[in-house]
Amino acid sequence: METSPLESPYAKPTRLRPAMTTTEPLLELTDVAKVYLTETVETRALREVHFAVKRGEWVAIVGPSGSGKSTLLSILGLLDTPTQGSYRLAGVSTEGLTGRERARLRNRSIGFIFQTFNLIGELTVEDNVGLPLGYRGMSAGERKERVREALASVDMSHRLEHYPAQLSGGQQQRVAVARAIVGKPELLLADEPTGNLDSANGAAVMDLLAKLHDDGSTVCMVTHDTSFAKRATRLTSVFDGRVVEDRSQL
Ligand code: ADP
Repeated sequence: METSPLESPYAKPTRLRPAMTTTEPLLELTDVAKVYLTETVETRALREVHFAVKRGEWVAIVGPSGSGKSTLLSILGLLDTPTQGSYRLAGVSTEGLTGRERARLRNRSIGFIFQTFNLIGELTVEDNVGLPLGYRGMSAGERKERVREALASVDMSHRLEHYPAQLSGGQQQRVAVARAIVGKPELLLADEPTGNLDSANGAAVMDLLAKLHDDGSTVCMVTHDTSFAKRATRLTSVFDGRVVEDRSQL
């Protein structure tokens, strides 16, 4: 995660105060383009993307390799910025935010689940899961309680003191899911969450996402697996940097 410990949770939240109505989507991209420039090549990773997600949706984002899925997820996760267009998240226009404000909004509003788990090898399971709470000025007792609750919800309470290398891939991803939900974010972003797992563990992680969605979470998930994509409530297909199909699966 990019958030730096130097980014104080006590910064004044004035510019982040949501000005939203209940009907406003949780997130909305308007005419977004992303161009990557290297010395010799200009790559248009996204173009003319209009994409809005309502609270409570579970969106599967699919498309061939290189079509722009990860770029889209990075922008949704405030890990990258569009070259053109606007992005509104939880009632906040993200364009004018400072780095600190972006980090704060990201930390409070978004939980990430990555293909490669991205746990910190030197930290125990308990400390890994507690990381997103570290910047919030929460008491140690409350933090411990929240971590235990998150680990219980992924059935990993018995591995608090373990280190990531002592866990199977499936267990590591369950810990990563606990880390993603510990801060009770409005939005869960998952980039190929089952990509490094065998089918049984992949299905178990998908069951966890389904449960989180049933409990009210909004989920955007990139996947190559068509059977997992079918479980989402909406399917968004990306091709050559554009959203080429977007349909409900309810
Ligand atoms: P996908 O996730 O669908 O495989 P990506 O979003 O990773 O696609 O990539 C979309 C396009 O943008 C690809 O052509 C890729 O090579 C290019 N791209 C992605 N990230 C960068 C980067 N940091 N610098 C240059 N080009 C990039």
